[in-house]
Amino acid sequence: MSNNNDATVVHGVAIIGAGFGGIGLAIRLQQQGVHDFVIYEQAADVGGVWRDNIYPGAACDVPSHLYSFSFEPNPDWGRSYGPQGEIHRYLQHCSKKYQLAQHLKFNVAVTALEFSEEKGLWTIKFAGGQQAQARAVVLAIGALNIPQYPKIEGIEKFAGKIMHTAEWDQDYSLKGKRVAVIGTGASAIQVVPAIQPEVESLALFQRTPPWVMPKFDRAQSPVRQARLRRWPFIQKMIRSLQYLLAESVVPAFMWDSLLTRFGEAMGRRYLQKVIADPELREQLTPQYAMGCKRVLLSDNYYPALTRNNVDLLSSGVSRMDETAIYSGDGQRLEVDAVVLATGFKVPVSGAPMPVRGLAGRNLNDDWAAGSEAYKGMTVSGYPNLLYIMGPNTGPGNTSVIFYIESQIHYILQYLRTLRANPNEYMDVRPEVQEAFNEGVQRRFKGTTWTSGCNSWYLTADGKNTTLWPSFSWQYRLRTRHFVSAEYEFVEVGNTNNIGAESEIELAAQS
Ligand code: NAP
Repeated sequence: MSNNNDATVVHGVAIIGAGFGGIGLAIRLQQQGVHDFVIYEQAADVGGVWRDNIYPGAACDVPSHLYSFSFEPNPDWGRSYGPQGEIHRYLQHCSKKYQLAQHLKFNVAVTALEFSEEKGLWTIKFAGGQQAQARAVVLAIGALNIPQYPKIEGIEKFAGKIMHTAEWDQDYSLKGKRVAVIGTGASAIQVVPAIQPEVESLALFQRTPPWVMPKFDRAQSPVRQARLRRWPFIQKMIRSLQYLLAESVVPAFMWDSLLTRFGEAMGRRYLQKVIADPELREQLTPQYAMGCKRVLLSDNYYPALTRNNVDLLSSGVSRMDETAIYSGDGQRLEVDAVVLATGFKVPVSGAPMPVRGLAGRNLNDDWAAGSEAYKGMTVSGYPNLLYIMGPNTGPGNTSVIFYIESQIHYILQYLRTLRANPNEYMDVRPEVQEAFNEGVQRRFKGTTWTSGCNSWYLTADGKNTTLWPSFSWQYRLRTRHFVSAEYEFVEVGNTNNIGAESEIELAAQS
């Protein structure tokens, strides 16, 4: 990052993060003939959560054909649900195929963003003290990247190994060890069956039993892969069917209704089919409306819990000492290692880093009561700043890539408008943002997400700032067209026609 030493480095667009969002936007910019952009990535590789979450069993719970870019289908998925390594390699492949290397700057951690009204530019500060400037900044940093460490009395005294699922130590072997796993969310239900066969004993500490449904995950045969390579339309059809299937569960997961009861009955039936022991079944039966927390898919989680070396402790964790962990009801278990499958610090309120906008406004203060943006992407008072997977754009039922592509489509129009107005900055009108968010929050009334469970979707006050409260196609429709009138255009000093070169190429293409 030598060139970042120079505060005069000015980019048309600075993308922060090289996961699905950052890579997808970069590809689309290139395809439109825009080359004046840079991607800052704090790690040494592309991949985002799919680079970082390397715990045993890590995989996606959205079907592979749907969990990939629409413009880059992959006929060679090895399983119906992509394992972590395959999805990571898919993003590396995209980065290579679309020649993003010249734009990628690795091992660069962004620590702060500051907007200059006078220049109409963002200053991007890095961990080493260097800085760069950009006319527009796109935060594509994801929401699930800061591990949540639980506050457990005595945890610091524990002399054995402690690993969070998102910070897995591959050099540490769990083989033959006595292991405790804390948590029963999406990560836990994958890691438990993956490590169960090799550990001596596994104590699973559950606080809230989740709804679990069968995944029907299958290996994809070479014959099937060859067929998809030969007839790409088959893959398109499969993707469309998977999309429709995912959308079809929205009415059940979203509105607490008869359909929800039907889904719950199916969940209990699956539980009954796999777990013969009535006491264990009782412990695993969820006590909240299906959909209130993420519905989990697994073919091997319940079966793993029936194995002789597994114990389910459903009273949570009370404390730890040098060698042991205690359940909520006082049982003491000596263990060698503790796996924390306790999830992530989700930015339901506050910004991921200090962000200073107009008149010294601080995004952390503005979002203290819960984050909000216009269509999840732009925030009034923070001009030329865009989010990918910002507030209220998370799906509870389908592929996040569908939302990311909707946002990329909108952001490209935004950036084109910005380049067409080289001496102005663009700020979403506060009344537009407010009206949008009032509508979003109104839609949460009567949904399963407000039916009483405790989830990371909500702020401390119970405001849902993470999910999109409707069908994903409605989000696609809302992000289809960029409307200039919804933004204020403010004249600044000359921005030296940053991005003008790209604009000329763009004009030549169209
Ligand atoms: P999570 O859903 O937040 O689950 C965390 C688990 O830890 C919950 O069971 C929670 O219990 C428990 N927990 C937290 N603190 C605890 C404490 N002090 N004592 C006892 N238990 C505690 O986290 P996650 O499983 O990592 O999943 C997070 C999100 O990542 C998912 O919702 C999903 O969006 C994403 N993810 C996706 C996939 C995929 O397949 N696509 C895979 C993994 C993760 P409570 O329920 O009682 O709070």
